Amino acid sequence: MKAILVDEPFKLRIAEIPEPSIREDEVLIQVAGAGICGSDMGIYNGTNSLATYPRLIGHEYGGRVVEIGSRVEKVRVGDCVAVDPVRSCGHCYACAQGRPNVCRSLEVTGVHRDGGFAEYVAAPAEAVYPVDTSRLAPEYACLVEPYSIGMQVNHRGQVSRGDKLLVMGSGPIGICIMQIAKSRGAYVMMSDVLDGRLENARRMGADQVINVQKEDLAAAVYALTGGEGMPVIADTVCSVSSFPQAVELASPAGRVAVVGLISQPSALAQVAITKKELSIVGSRLSNRRFPEVIQGFESGALTPDKLCSRKLPYTEVEEAFRLIRERPQEICKIVLQFAGV
Ligand code: MN
Ligand code: ZN
Repeated sequence: MKAILVDEPFKLRIAEIPEPSIREDEVLIQVAGAGICGSDMGIYNGTNSLATYPRLIGHEYGGRVVEIGSRVEKVRVGDCVAVDPVRSCGHCYACAQGRPNVCRSLEVTGVHRDGGFAEYVAAPAEAVYPVDTSRLAPEYACLVEPYSIGMQVNHRGQVSRGDKLLVMGSGPIGICIMQIAKSRGAYVMMSDVLDGRLENARRMGADQVINVQKEDLAAAVYALTGGEGMPVIADTVCSVSSFPQAVELASPAGRVAVVGLISQPSALAQVAITKKELSIVGSRLSNRRFPEVIQGFESGALTPDKLCSRKLPYTEVEEAFRLIRERPQEICKIVLQFAGV
């Protein structure tokens, strides 16, 4: 079968490798579609500090089950499934707390072990979740994963009905956070530096959008909240300066959720946190949020088909990377098609 390998930074190739075989508790999936994420670009560029090489990349993938192991009861051959890329030990402190997404021996497919940019993948039955293809084309099953990131941020930030949320950054993860917050009954303001991204955020459902290069974000936040600050802020910009800005714009008793993986420190005074008694939470991957996301797909509250700006055959993966890099105004998420290419 064909698979997309990154041997080392900037060395990507479409390779012919053996089809995976499955154990009794696994399923074999013919990949229909796979989403390209910023972190895949990071593995390609050598800027993803968590990745190891060589790597079969891709952690957003789904498709048709073509074979099941003898002990699998959860799905049948022919089902369309999304695959959760989180692999955890099941017995460390985090796992025992029901938080396998931060397992001390966490491995993510496509990052620490081989992933889903391939014609076939094997996956443990417990990591696959069926999606209803009468509601969703099979190639979009892969988009359960980025929405699961948005779901986790909503849980960590305790977003609920009537809340006001600022999502800093209007890329794919920002959009996923926003749509889920909207489905939970929150008012969502989004920011970015690119008008194209903000127009997309609007089309996807954001209540208010702010171009921070043309408008004063703090003024907009205080105008919306009567000077109180934002109850919830999700920072998807993940820069050295966006984190202290989020803390500054948060309301007393507010929550700030961060998803960044950068290692450069931000300057932050303790008083900024203590005085407002802020909850500052990290949000990583998701702890088994796939079923909630799939429910949102089926109810129509979440629109993965609109998240995807372009579908390309996997053979054009380098062109897809180029589009994501060079045309951020118009490109949100690209899905690579595998089956039938
Ligand atoms: Mn991703
Ligand atoms: Zn664990």
